[in-house]
Amino acid sequence: MGHAMEWLGLHFITELPDAGKVILNCVHDPFLVLLAYLVACAGSFATLDMAERVAHAQKPASRRLWCWVGAGCLAGGIWAMHFIGMLAFEAPISVHYQLPVTFASLLIALLASWLAMQTLSRPALNIWQCLLASIWVGLGIATMHYVGMSALHSQATVYYQPTLFALSIVIAIVASLAALLLSRYLRNGSGMFHQLLKYGASLILGTGIISMHFTGMAAFNLMLPAGSVLTQPGENNHLQLGLTVAIMTLLIIGSSISAALADKKLQHKEQDLQRVNSLLTQLDQARVSLQQVAHFDPLTNLVNRRGFNQLFAEKLIEKTHTGGMLAVLFLDIDHFKRINDSLGHDAGDELLKVLASHIKGSVRSHEDVVARFGGDEFCMLINLHDREEARHMAQRIMLKMKEPIELAGRRMVMTTSIGISLFPEDGKTCDELLKNADLALYQSKGSGRNGLNFFSANLKARATLELQLEEELRHALREDTGLMLHYQPIYDLKTGQVSKLEALIRWQHPVHGLLAPDRFIALAETNGLITELDNWVLRKACEDLGELSLQGCEALRIAVNCSPLSLAREELAGQIEHALRSAGVAPQRLELEVTENALMGNIADTLVLLKQIRALGVSLSIDDFGTGYSSLAYLKRLPLNTLKIDRSFIQEIPKSTQDMEIVQAIIAMAHTLHLEVVTEGVETFEQYQFLERHGCDFVQGYLLSRPVPLADLRPVLNEINQRNHSYPLTSLSLVHGTSALM
Ligand code: C2E
Ligand code: MG
Ligand code: MG
Repeated sequence: MGHAMEWLGLHFITELPDAGKVILNCVHDPFLVLLAYLVACAGSFATLDMAERVAHAQKPASRRLWCWVGAGCLAGGIWAMHFIGMLAFEAPISVHYQLPVTFASLLIALLASWLAMQTLSRPALNIWQCLLASIWVGLGIATMHYVGMSALHSQATVYYQPTLFALSIVIAIVASLAALLLSRYLRNGSGMFHQLLKYGASLILGTGIISMHFTGMAAFNLMLPAGSVLTQPGENNHLQLGLTVAIMTLLIIGSSISAALADKKLQHKEQDLQRVNSLLTQLDQARVSLQQVAHFDPLTNLVNRRGFNQLFAEKLIEKTHTGGMLAVLFLDIDHFKRINDSLGHDAGDELLKVLASHIKGSVRSHEDVVARFGGDEFCMLINLHDREEARHMAQRIMLKMKEPIELAGRRMVMTTSIGISLFPEDGKTCDELLKNADLALYQSKGSGRNGLNFFSANLKARATLELQLEEELRHALREDTGLMLHYQPIYDLKTGQVSKLEALIRWQHPVHGLLAPDRFIALAETNGLITELDNWVLRKACEDLGELSLQGCEALRIAVNCSPLSLAREELAGQIEHALRSAGVAPQRLELEVTENALMGNIADTLVLLKQIRALGVSLSIDDFGTGYSSLAYLKRLPLNTLKIDRSFIQEIPKSTQDMEIVQAIIAMAHTLHLEVVTEGVETFEQYQFLERHGCDFVQGYLLSRPVPLADLRPVLNEINQRNHSYPLTSLSLVHGTSALM
């Protein structure tokens, strides 16, 4: 065997065979070759399919599963191709196969395929890794082939042609590389084109595999010693066997593919479901944040009215079932508007934040609810056992709120009014309880603020009464019935004459009798009737000024009171002018009394209006001085004529030396600001003397006269004016009671 060499148990021929040896002329059954090709293509397609599955599997277990199924398909395809290819081989001698070796070749195919799938299932591969893997896989396939070939046994000796042998290995490697690259390229994508690409790729791969096989077969030579007997290939069952193997393989591959398809659909469904689920969670989150926005107050981070109502409804249901008590606390910061007006909205917001945290800090348990209803209105919902708890809570809050707060470089002390209603006594529904707490709050505000009130049936009755009164007041204004002015003399200490009258409104009510203004002014203020009322007073006072002139009192002036709400309207100056003109009286005879709180509200706008009024010739006086919050700096800027010291400073004189000092100081200050001073509420002679001694300009009070209707005014005026210094003032009240001296 000089021209043959051996390597790895394989015989290679490099030259023509020795004499006496015959190369057998072998052929292949074309049908079986085609069948082998088909199987190879099917195996390739299945592999590409599985590679795609592996790439898309989310769970490691299913990734492993598809890796194995893919390896099975590839191995089955290659091996079946190889097996059928062997069956297609027809030699003119009898040939038989060793079954164990054939199966060993199957195992090798499986190993190579598994390696291929393993490589494919890695997420990222560079070209070198691909190359390395394809070398291994290609070598595996070649090994399978040649091991499979060694299962063939006959009397002939097997020789391989080295070039073709090498070529077959190269083809195996190139085919593997193509398979790896193609499947990597194809694993992401979908649709018709992608599917077509996959078919094309499978055909190419099938070609690669089958080329390797037949290149291997071309390298394969059978040699017989010369003279051996050649037998014609007889009847064999190769076709049948080939078909069986092909069908079985195709079935296996087919079911794997359909399993993959089913899995793909299932995964799509799962993904759809997941997408729907994530969409639902997103929607849910959106809803939650929307609720957050809808139910919270962004400034204080407390719940708003809507949020409160929801929590309240839930709490009520719970308490109705389990029994137990709830308290609704309505809070209102006293004179908050003034802060906003004087220091600006930013400072107001800052203050609200601090106050909100004070309130929040006063609740005991997280079950209690604190809400901001807007503006300076807060509401709390508290679980409790008895009514006193609510009172203590409210007192604690009021105390906490009074702590000085540093704001815009100033120290402020804020007070709070609180109204409380209780469940179940004061109501069973949210609406009812809120309304009743509001009513109680209204009561607290009405009684001087900085206080707390519980709701009571009494209050409710009063509320309905109030409602009725409001209706009646509206009617009285519209029809001009029942409303009237009383006049109280203002006595000039220098001239010893009554020089002014204060117009004070009264309401002759058909049922309740003569009502004083404190019974209905607040009502008119809260129901928007006050401007109409003040305008009525203005007109009436001007008419009466005309009437007084007719009676010979041309020098008498009238002071009318003006609500802060009227002072906030630009129309006021026009109304005054109109009233004066209609009655034909000089503007110098009219004076407007405004409270200091009204003045301090919105300084800038008020100042403009006051200047307009002053420009008309009408005087201005600051009423109830000392009860409000005026600042001297502002007072100086206002075009005022008169300052009226509030009755509360005079009441305790001469008992209270402190009040005496205050009154003296106010008089001195007013004079410094070139304001005349009226002291109201003078009831005793001592008070009169004290005021006279300290330079007060005017006095007004019951000592001189109560407010009286215009018709009764004459005798009162005569009697005061005719008073002579020889008559002690003490006797005045006695005197003007008797008509004999008038
Ligand atoms: P005011 O402007 O401070 O009026 C003085 C109040 O003190 C009047 O009460 C008067 O009757 C009362 N008074 C006068 N002298 C004495 C006294 O010696 N002792 C005591 N205890 N009281 C005295 P009235 O008439 O009940 O008015 C109360 C308040 O109602 C007024 O306070 C004023 O702010 C408001 N008011 C009265 N009339 C009108 C009006 O036409 N329009 C507006 N917007 N408010 C009015
Ligand atoms: Mg007044
Ligand atoms: Mg007053």
